[in-house]
Amino acid sequence: MDRIIPIQPAPAEPSATAITPSADGLGCGAGKDAMQQAALSAGKGEILAQYAADYPLKADAGPHDQPQSMCPAFGSLRVGLRMRRTATILSGSACCVYGLTFTSHFYGARRSVGYVPFNSESLVTGKLFEDIRDSVYDQADPAKYDAIVIINLCVPTASGVPLQLLPKEINGVRIIGIDVPGFGVPTHAEAKDVLAGAMLRYARTEAEAGPVAAPRQARSDKPSITLLGEMFPADPPGIAQMIAPMGLAVGTVVPTREWRELYAALDCAAVAAIHPFYTASVREFQAAGRPIVGSAPVGVEGTHDWLGAIGQATGVSQDKIDVARNATLAAMRGVLAQQKIQGRITLSGYEGSELLVGRLLVECGADLRYVGSACPATPWNAQDAAWLQSKGVHVQFRASLEQDIAAFHEWKPQLAIGTTPVVQAAKEACIPSLYFTNLISARPLMGVAGAGSLIQVINGAIGNQTRFDRMKEFFGAAGQGDEAGVWAEVPRQFPAFRADVKRMNEKAKKKRKAEEMGG
Ligand code: SF4
Repeated sequence: MDRIIPIQPAPAEPSATAITPSADGLGCGAGKDAMQQAALSAGKGEILAQYAADYPLKADAGPHDQPQSMCPAFGSLRVGLRMRRTATILSGSACCVYGLTFTSHFYGARRSVGYVPFNSESLVTGKLFEDIRDSVYDQADPAKYDAIVIINLCVPTASGVPLQLLPKEINGVRIIGIDVPGFGVPTHAEAKDVLAGAMLRYARTEAEAGPVAAPRQARSDKPSITLLGEMFPADPPGIAQMIAPMGLAVGTVVPTREWRELYAALDCAAVAAIHPFYTASVREFQAAGRPIVGSAPVGVEGTHDWLGAIGQATGVSQDKIDVARNATLAAMRGVLAQQKIQGRITLSGYEGSELLVGRLLVECGADLRYVGSACPATPWNAQDAAWLQSKGVHVQFRASLEQDIAAFHEWKPQLAIGTTPVVQAAKEACIPSLYFTNLISARPLMGVAGAGSLIQVINGAIGNQTRFDRMKEFFGAAGQGDEAGVWAEVPRQFPAFRADVKRMNEKAKKKRKAEEMGG
């Protein structure tokens, strides 16, 4: 008897058992395209499309379409680990989890990082999803946690592990599952937004559904401004002082340190997008009807414009805006009149605040030629980019390491501010340099305090040139190129061997080319 095989339509929603095995064995080394392709066929198309819209890459995507920085998932992990009563669990390859855990503790996490391990079998059979669900149920103790965050790293994302099928809440503990693959989220800065945005969305729907918990600390009765972006602890009080004459208070800083602060963040008069890359978070604030103000109160012109924009967004009268401006700008002009930065500078980083630092440097007198940021152009940094360009500064969004180093060689600055490899290149070239993340973004930038502190550190670094010259004179060319490293005796050169290897390489290259043309 003929047997009819029933044809079933494919389920629209990915299910725990419908995981494609294609990503098994993939990782950083498999290449972005292979990972993306696997994720698309595993049902992650929608989230990848959202990331592509939120965190755009350069239009001329080439080999350097993505800036070189640490594993992006670190941004989400850091945001989760800094929140009270929040457990953060990683799902990914052991090597990725090892690196991320190491970096978290290097930056003082003082919190355990959860991990659901997998192997080829649990990945391809869907058992990994069940393991994740079990571990979430295990952890969901409302006495300990307000929320549990689960982060899919590259391989589980490419395999389609469907975190969206986890319960939204267990025993009153909120469950937030996010995909943060290196092939979908370009930088760790933007990965902070992935988690902050997911939490804001959850909190917004809670607030829309009924009463929510008040923040732990008493709130000001004045209309508040939510600050978007991790900043130096002295900056929010500094901003509070600047906006007080307008009858406004500083509210919550997002990413928040506790779940209930999310409600207070949403309940604001306006949002200051101090860091400009929080696209998903901005979407949530806009959905809550909050106006967004870009740029930040850095330098005289920046502060003048920003106070005006905040005043307008919150309906403050012009005379109050003027009072606020006069109070801050007079003090700032005083600081800038007393001290100046003298010297040519190139600047690059991946924190997202590079353009703000650039503005402040220019106002402090620096001859700034280049600002490179790993983050993209957004409406919230457009004003800063235009301002810098009007002062003759080259602004490079989604800057690659090669662009940062080329700018350094081109402009031959007296000081290079940059990421670790840029700083290393500058030191090799005997030029003073400062690491952006630890030495520049970890100090106040806003208002009067920002100007004063930046001038001191920059002038101090430029003043180190004589020490570099002395070191260069002392060491000469020792330990450079193939003489680098630890040697028991004076390194010997083997020019004949070197010439032989060069000849062999050239021969092999010619042969490859001939084969390619023949094929
Ligand atoms: S999770 Fe991070 S370290 Fe792991 S494969 Fe992806 S980008 Fe690389």
